[in-house]
Amino acid sequence: MRDGYGREIRYMRISITDRCNLRCRYCMPEGIKLSPMEEILTFEEIAAVCEAAAALGITRFKITGGEPLVRLGCPQLVGMLKGISGVEQVTLTTNGVLLGDYLDELLRNGLDAVNVSLDTLDAERFRQITGFDELGRVRESILSAVGRGVRVKINSVLQDGINAHEWETLAGLAKENPLDVRFIEMMPIGYGKKEKTIEGNKILSLLKEKYPGIQKDHRVHGNGPAEYYRIPGFAGGIGFIRAVHGQFCENCNRIRLTAKGELKPCLCYEDCVDVRSILRRPEVMTGEDRRKEAVSEDIRAAICRAVHSKPRKHCFDVREQITEGRQMVQIGG
Ligand code: SAM
Ligand code: SF4
Repeated sequence: MRDGYGREIRYMRISITDRCNLRCRYCMPEGIKLSPMEEILTFEEIAAVCEAAAALGITRFKITGGEPLVRLGCPQLVGMLKGISGVEQVTLTTNGVLLGDYLDELLRNGLDAVNVSLDTLDAERFRQITGFDELGRVRESILSAVGRGVRVKINSVLQDGINAHEWETLAGLAKENPLDVRFIEMMPIGYGKKEKTIEGNKILSLLKEKYPGIQKDHRVHGNGPAEYYRIPGFAGGIGFIRAVHGQFCENCNRIRLTAKGELKPCLCYEDCVDVRSILRRPEVMTGEDRRKEAVSEDIRAAICRAVHSKPRKHCFDVREQITEGRQMVQIGG
């Protein structure tokens, strides 16, 4: 379906939890209040939203969080979404800590690809950024996914004075392995507001100096706004998600569903369309098909409202205009 600016919206990011087994300093430092479990959508409710979305042409879903793999049954949810008529793709964004444990089950349920967030290859720095000593498990799960032929993308957020100098070693993961390494600009959302954004172009210039043969890759690698490059001799690609400095809004193709059942038209603004109240109307609990169909219609109408209220562009460059006050862990990235 198209939004008010003629953009085709066919991708939904679905957060299934606001819990996480890491505490990345720019996303979920200690002390964030968690939502009571009864406020979080059940898998059946999520599937109902996805069914309505698929009927409207939104056919690609990314499961995110918090950390999606801390929620029991995440692989089964993948299977539920893959079973919906019209669904083209279900992928997952994870910190990788539990990926090795669930990989078989995720693949059996039809997972199409995985993004793993990894900001450093140094064990001590990993602990500094995430609060935990889990680099080993994350690396193993990445290698195991690559070894199983899964499409893997590594997402790295570079932070000034912390891991910015690791652009080269992180990019090096794509030399040895057939995976994409993507550098994401730190966005001024939640604790990210306190951080300085390192421009993607700066990293690109450094890569160009180091690898003069680097070439733009015009093929589409995924659902998102990343721009890709190929380096001769590298097994995988290098991507840039210039969320702040690149104006990619004219090609925006997505909406978000938060764990609490809010449809979010744009990352920058707090405005949401609530679907949980529709999903939890008393008649949903009854067996009456006619009433259930009315609920499905209302969910479709809510998705249309969210899509049509997408703004033309984000406002990361004018910080006073950012109205989103939640943390990224509560939104899903
Ligand atoms: N736990 C999963 C993970 O880490 O991939 C999924 C949720 S996490 C919120 C999704 C992505 O958002 C991660 O790659 C994380 O690095 C990124 N992220 C969090 N806060 C951010 C910020 N302020 N700017 C840019 N990316 C951010
Ligand atoms: Fe957890 Fe992912 Fe946020 Fe890190 S980035 S705290 S892993 S949700």
